[in-house]
Amino acid sequence: KTYLAADSRYETMAYPHCGRSGLRLPRIALGFWHNFGDTADYGTMKALCCTAFDHGITYFDLANNYGPAYGSAERNFGQLMDGLFRPYRDELVIATKAGYDMWPGPYGNWGSRKYLIASLDQSLIRMHLDYVDIFYHHRMDPETPLEETMGALAQIVRSGKALYVGLSNYDGPTLLRAATILHEMHVPFIVNQNRYSIFDRTIEKNGLKDTSADLGLGIVAFSPLCQGLLTDRYLHGIPEDSRIHRDGRFLKEKSLTPEKLQAIRALNDLAHERGQTLAEMALAWDLKDTDVTTVLIGASKPEQILDNIKAIENTRFSAEELQAIDAISFA
Ligand code: NDP
Repeated sequence: KTYLAADSRYETMAYPHCGRSGLRLPRIALGFWHNFGDTADYGTMKALCCTAFDHGITYFDLANNYGPAYGSAERNFGQLMDGLFRPYRDELVIATKAGYDMWPGPYGNWGSRKYLIASLDQSLIRMHLDYVDIFYHHRMDPETPLEETMGALAQIVRSGKALYVGLSNYDGPTLLRAATILHEMHVPFIVNQNRYSIFDRTIEKNGLKDTSADLGLGIVAFSPLCQGLLTDRYLHGIPEDSRIHRDGRFLKEKSLTPEKLQAIRALNDLAHERGQTLAEMALAWDLKDTDVTTVLIGASKPEQILDNIKAIENTRFSAEELQAIDAISFA
């Protein structure tokens, strides 16, 4: 039967502006990197998306090659769109990306105008959409002139296939050069999407976080739970239904060293002292300053989404707590 979204869906979520743009994003967004491919269960996908939207998660994040197989997460999203979300299209921010390996040959990867424009056309067909809300260039391409990649993004917006553009996995200096070009072309470039968590502070070191704030851009922080390490998932071994066990492509058992496990345990204790689960504290840590607009989570079960949205109830940390988190994570 027809899906009716919960009436209460806008009651608890917060929606800050994405940088200095007019677009407001939910503080928590749902990503389709895992659990939406060919090997995933369609009923679970439905439950994940409905739980998210029923609780005010209005931003769904995809990419051309999310799967496995490449393209399958977008195809499954197209089915979800047709079956459930079509009446809510204007209440949703839907994003996709291109920049990593997608199809064979020289035109299915990186940052050429040829690749980006063809890829978004394919994505729109798979997702059964006329346009996406945000189109991201997925990673820096050292061999393509930045003017060409940014020019492709400009054309994509002008052709009506994306409303806003974003960059992903850029560093501070490259972001600055890209932003200058996009600004000259009057492109609505509003957001950076980068990895950021208690365990991965790269954007604090490579200038991305400060440059983004200086330019008035938003940040969407991906893998804020370090793919599940910053949760209670692995406190007592490696569960059968966990990402490490089911899908070791990107999160490998060897990342769970005794030192890491010790840090996770100490962070878990600290979270409990704050009255939060470790997942909630890890998300709250990302959201503690306003430079980060949104944390972009993954989930294999609807209950994880319900846990994670509680993070926004307390995003304040004392200086002592922050020091303790640093001491644990840098040990
Ligand atoms: P997370 O760090 O949020 O990890 C998600 C995983 O953590 C879940 O699949 C689940 O793993 C576990 N988990 C989540 N919530 C809980 C909880 N409350 N309690 C216990 N375990 C929990 O993010 P992802 O690494 O999945 O990335 C999120 C999104 O970011 C992607 O879907 C994608 O949209 C985007 N992304 C973008 C990239 C880019 O280059 N731009 C790169 C990577 C991601 P389990 O399966 O074990 O249950």
